[in-house]
Amino acid sequence: MADFDFDLITIGAGSGGVRAARMSANHGARVAIMESGALGGTCVNVGCIPKKLLSYAAHYREDFEDASGYGWDVAPRRFDWPSLIAAKDAEIRRLNGIYEGVLRDAGVEIFAGRARLVGPHEVALGGKTHSARHILIATGGHPVRATLPGGEQMITSEDAFHLKQLPASAVVYGAGYIAVEFASIFNGLGVETHLVYRADRLLRGFDGEIGPLLAEEMSRKGVNLHPSCRIERIVPGEIKQVILSDKTVLAAGCVLAATGRAPNSANLGLEELGVQTGEHGAIQVDDTYTTNLPSIHAIGDVTDRIQLTPVALAEGMAFADHWFGKGLRTVSYENVPTAVFSHPHVACVGLSEEAARMRGAVRIFKSSFRALRHTLSGRGERTFMKLVVDAQSDRVLGAHMIGPDAGEVLQGFAVALNCGATKAQFDATIGIHPTVAEEFLTMRTPAS
Ligand SMILES: Cc1cc2nc3c(=O)[nH]c(=O)nc-3n(C[C@H](O)[C@H](O)[C@H](O)COP(=O)(O)OP(=O)(O)OC[C@H]3O[C@@H](n4cnc5c(N)ncnc54)[C@H](O)[C@@H]3O)c2cc1C
Repeated sequence: MADFDFDLITIGAGSGGVRAARMSANHGARVAIMESGALGGTCVNVGCIPKKLLSYAAHYREDFEDASGYGWDVAPRRFDWPSLIAAKDAEIRRLNGIYEGVLRDAGVEIFAGRARLVGPHEVALGGKTHSARHILIATGGHPVRATLPGGEQMITSEDAFHLKQLPASAVVYGAGYIAVEFASIFNGLGVETHLVYRADRLLRGFDGEIGPLLAEEMSRKGVNLHPSCRIERIVPGEIKQVILSDKTVLAAGCVLAATGRAPNSANLGLEELGVQTGEHGAIQVDDTYTTNLPSIHAIGDVTDRIQLTPVALAEGMAFADHWFGKGLRTVSYENVPTAVFSHPHVACVGLSEEAARMRGAVRIFKSSFRALRHTLSGRGERTFMKLVVDAQSDRVLGAHMIGPDAGEVLQGFAVALNCGATKAQFDATIGIHPTVAEEFLTMRTPAS
């Protein structure tokens, strides 16, 4: 049997790579992990965690405003961006340390630097070559900037986390979750915010009612929406001129491109080895996360399946279990719940109404209401909920929500959907009163 330096080398210490490395080591494998940036990857450093911290910060503006409806006399407020960024950076450094500790405790050897495959079992890093029985590519993805004149003036989500100063005005380009989240963050922090998107609605891929309703709520909160518009060019300057396809000219201190992400599969040595990639360079893998080369595997965003941290984590666990454990874990890509931390939040699990109708007859239940909290706050924000039910089996196929803590609400319902819960079982469940979530249990009349 060939003798290798390691049983497993993982390239990339993000959500998927760290989990796979740690679990494989726990199963007894000799593991190395190689990382060119900071431990924790996108989620910890320039994704979920810093994004949610900024989102919390941005929400305080509304919280202060709402407090006056509850009798609080809130003194004039001042927001300091550098303080927020410093606090966020300190928290991220703490998390980087935790990731390092977790890997070291599991006995994983950590290599800092950019890794490149140089053989089916060989990885080069910093002038040295290391060998492993299995190589796992978990290199994630990167933001893609739209190509347009002046496009180099745009920053990406990664830069936005490190802006020295908060701009007075910003244009966010895109209609996906990162675009609506950053538009909400800027707007909440008092930046004059424009959201420009080529599509006619936000959040394509979500239930068809979500985008228009979210647009209404974001617009009510002060975000200036420019649907069905392209950015034609950007004229540089401290204040940039952003020329749109409808000839509107916007002035902005910062233009953020949130028009998509692509897998980090270039310059990894894949082509030389003949590892198959698909659209945008996504690495092609089978059910065991193996490429067309039996010793090379891939998980997470670099495979471009569902780009979410919990999916990368689940794939990391399944990979470790399959190759070094009992092989009992699999990942189901059905009913993957997801949340968007726009203001207001959006969350969903299961099928959209459109997708469900393609499969057969459905009953739709929905509700739009003003949450109790906003009776005294005076805020006009509305909460929206929708259930998509299979007409024949009564099984709940999809649950969708726009409103406060939508992700927290839908996490539990995701379990119900995974267990195959029926609408009758939803109806028979006693609600928790008074909550927003109880509305999911009290929608009795199907929408026409
Ligand atoms: C702004 C933003 C917000 C997000 N918010 C959410 C959210 O709220 N919820 C959610 O579930 N998901 C969210 N995501 C998505 C989530 O961050 C990713 O799905 C997840 O991080 C993917 O994990 P991964 O292990 O595949 O890759 P990553 O976490 O991206 O890790 C890849 C690692 O590989 C390293 N690397 C790349 N090439 C090399 C090389 N050649 N050698 C060595 N190291 C290399 C990179 O430096 C990186 O650290 C967000 C993403 C972004 C950008």
